[in-house]
Amino acid sequence: MADVAAPPYRTIPIIPALKPGSMEGVKSFVANNKINEALGFPGQLVDDWHDKAIAKMGELLTKYRSLKVYMDACVHCGACSDKCHYFIGTQDPKNMPVARQDLMRSVYRRYFTLPGKLLPKLVGARDLTRDVLDEWYTYFHQCSECRRCSVFCPYGIDTAEVTMAAREILDSVGYGQKYANEIIGKVHRIGNNLGLPGPALNDTLEGLEEDVKDATGIDVRFPIDVKGAEVLLITPSADFFAEPHIDSLIGYAKVFHATGTSWTLSSMASEAGNFGMFIGNYDQLRKIALRIREAALELGVKRIVVGECGHAWRVAYSFWNTLTGVGDGADETDRFAQMLQKQLDHRYKQPMHICEFTWDMIGRGALSFNKEANDKHIITFHDSCNVARGSRMGDFAGGQFEIPRNIIKAVANNFVEMSLETTREQTFCCGGGGGLLTDDLMDLRVKGALPRMEVLQQVVDEHGVNFMATICAICKAQFTKVMPIYGFDRRMVGGVHQLVSNAIILGDK
Ligand code: SF4
Ligand code: SF4
Repeated sequence: MADVAAPPYRTIPIIPALKPGSMEGVKSFVANNKINEALGFPGQLVDDWHDKAIAKMGELLTKYRSLKVYMDACVHCGACSDKCHYFIGTQDPKNMPVARQDLMRSVYRRYFTLPGKLLPKLVGARDLTRDVLDEWYTYFHQCSECRRCSVFCPYGIDTAEVTMAAREILDSVGYGQKYANEIIGKVHRIGNNLGLPGPALNDTLEGLEEDVKDATGIDVRFPIDVKGAEVLLITPSADFFAEPHIDSLIGYAKVFHATGTSWTLSSMASEAGNFGMFIGNYDQLRKIALRIREAALELGVKRIVVGECGHAWRVAYSFWNTLTGVGDGADETDRFAQMLQKQLDHRYKQPMHICEFTWDMIGRGALSFNKEANDKHIITFHDSCNVARGSRMGDFAGGQFEIPRNIIKAVANNFVEMSLETTREQTFCCGGGGGLLTDDLMDLRVKGALPRMEVLQQVVDEHGVNFMATICAICKAQFTKVMPIYGFDRRMVGGVHQLVSNAIILGDK
């Protein structure tokens, strides 16, 4: 990490000069046999990878009509080309969203269109060679699936979906990524991304109860596996021990305590994150999500609340209904989904984000705050890409932007916005999302953080901002690592519920 340097800020955010090939040597580690086979993928690149990859591509083009539309619809207008943080930071033209899509589009044309079969050169069609497959591996692991480019595309082409399809094809021929596949294996084996076993989890929670008692004098509980609790909290495992994540977990516990809500964590479902989405694999996505249903049924809870994790909330909000039966549209032929539907209390939104829970409680007057406790902070808010562009909160358009901000303003006096072109639906990814939060991609992560760092520097210079709140475990982990490289203090980043925790007034409820 010592030789990773931050790129210089741009004085005016202009389209960067091109540096062709600058990132072709940055390749995330490939998964080994053991890691791949644990997920049911071939252990290593199979001999007939070419035919298998084309067959898989054909299968995905049939299964996901959107993918076929994305392959056909692009008019190469260039509107997306300078919208990706990885292109801005690396200046590698293959990190332009349109160029990233073309890595697959050129192969699609060759094998799935008549002009590409007859006159490949004329229509930019390419054979799927080993070099092309390697190029896919490299550049489809330089996309965080953040969907920023799709906001600017007049046709709504979603590069994230193209990346997911490419990763699924790579996994199907035994060319998966070590980081994501290893983490998924840990969830199946141990229950969470970090491989934190049940006893360690219990110890951590007991330690937190003692810490909070020491700090506040109040017995705030961190319950686990409590049958009959009203709320099951599903939160990223980083909340259990990583900094600053743990401060938000303390915040959730204080909110539940102060509102008199009975709640529990689950040792079976001790992970909100779902890397099945990052590798584009439905079976893995579902298998990971089903642990949550199993835990909810076993514990008999009435509500399911999700902690601060961007992609987890996207999966929960957008897919849990069909994957697990949590939310509207549960599969009527799935007995367990129907059991869960009967069990959950439908007076409440299912699932609910912890920010929705806290904001609702603030609205009901169930929480009081000493806002001055946050006066040492001048706060800004980083919208996490999966929350911003892959989900919603509340019952109004843009709730996912306003509710976290409303909470911050309810618990703190000093709030400053970063520029509009980089927030809300136009927010930049932190640089570590989509399965790229691995040290073997540190160079990419640092460069990908450039646009957010530039704008953060602006509000630091103009308003003295010294705290950037966010509601994503990956953003927190990524920023604490890359911000020092840009000259910021790593403690400048934290969760919204960390601020709630600072200011909340605890009673004896
Ligand atoms: S990282 Fe985001 S902006 Fe860049 S290509 Fe992927 S989805 Fe588009
Ligand atoms: S904005 Fe859309 S249509 Fe234009 S180049 Fe990008 S993907 Fe193609």
